[in-house]
Amino acid sequence: MNVRTHSLARLAAAPLVATLALASPARAEWVSRTVDGIMGTRIVVELWSDDHAAGERAIDAVMAEMRHIDTTMSTYKPASEISRVNAHAAQGPVKISRELFGLLETALEYSRITDGAFDITYASVGFMYDFRARHRPTEQQISAALPAVNYHHLRLDRATHTVRFSQPGVRIDLGGIAKGYSVDRGIEILQKRGIRHAMVQAGGDSRIIGDRFGKPWIVGIRHPDRKDEVIARLPLVDTAISTSGDYERYFDENGVRFHHIIDPRTGHSASAVRSATVLAPTATRTDGLSKTAFVLGAEAAIAIYERLGDVDAIIVKPDGKVLYTKGLEPPPAAEPDANAPAGSK
Ligand code: ADP
Ligand code: MG
Repeated sequence: MNVRTHSLARLAAAPLVATLALASPARAEWVSRTVDGIMGTRIVVELWSDDHAAGERAIDAVMAEMRHIDTTMSTYKPASEISRVNAHAAQGPVKISRELFGLLETALEYSRITDGAFDITYASVGFMYDFRARHRPTEQQISAALPAVNYHHLRLDRATHTVRFSQPGVRIDLGGIAKGYSVDRGIEILQKRGIRHAMVQAGGDSRIIGDRFGKPWIVGIRHPDRKDEVIARLPLVDTAISTSGDYERYFDENGVRFHHIIDPRTGHSASAVRSATVLAPTATRTDGLSKTAFVLGAEAAIAIYERLGDVDAIIVKPDGKVLYTKGLEPPPAAEPDANAPAGSK
């Protein structure tokens, strides 16, 4: 059964393996590699190749592309293109590469689609959080920096390929979309080499092409609090999937969770949901959309996804309830009651 442009064979709400657990590789011809530390995350590539050496070379090319994107787009690297933009774009236009320009345009498109929930200028406040060090800005620091959070401050000029910030204090960070973008670039590289069955994953962002010999790839969605417990198991073919969760990068303080998804309206962690898993044709799209529900709430996010038409989602609310877009609703538990009045469920 195909669900819209991504295909989902069946949704089974059954406990199984851990997060993003894929069906176990069975044959030697599957070539796979896991590399930690690119873009601050784990990269996994798995592909089917008739020729093992060619498969390894294809993975080399994907990893090289991921390193290139990290070098260009990491705000943790002072010499990166994005760091140069953050240092100078408030003073005047900064000329940038075609690639970065394109991704900034895409980021703005997702700001518009999500009513501003996705906003790369979140970093104007976001840079003051350090989740590993359990550090957060004071309320005073947040309110001083908050006027700089607004995607309208980002001005792109297509004619000159420049970017500028319309006011001081603006910072951008592509942590919410660069991994999805890198996954799409990885898949493109594999497709150009004739590979038809593969999975590329960068942290919580993945994309799958083809199947596994007539069987779907199986992706599990973890429970927000119990990492070894799976709340749903998705059999997938030809789709991208991203999961955002408040359990990825966080610290708790007096019963309050401070985590890495920031509400651009408040500068605080966005806590309307615990996790959101988004399915769509590309990983840039699923990454750009997976933060929406944290900011706008599950129902508003689902309304946006259903309007888009090529997006499905599974959202875990703070009370543990799980919401699905219409395309993914699990099958009813029992046959409808034959005596029920017409029109009821
Ligand atoms: P991952 O980094 O594991 O892919 P997500 O896709 O959930 O996780 O993205 C979270 C990241 O998105 C944060 O670490 C931060 O860099 C960035 N981010 C946080 N809040 C926002 C926001 N409101 N809009 C865009 N990006 C955001
Ligand atoms: Mg992501």
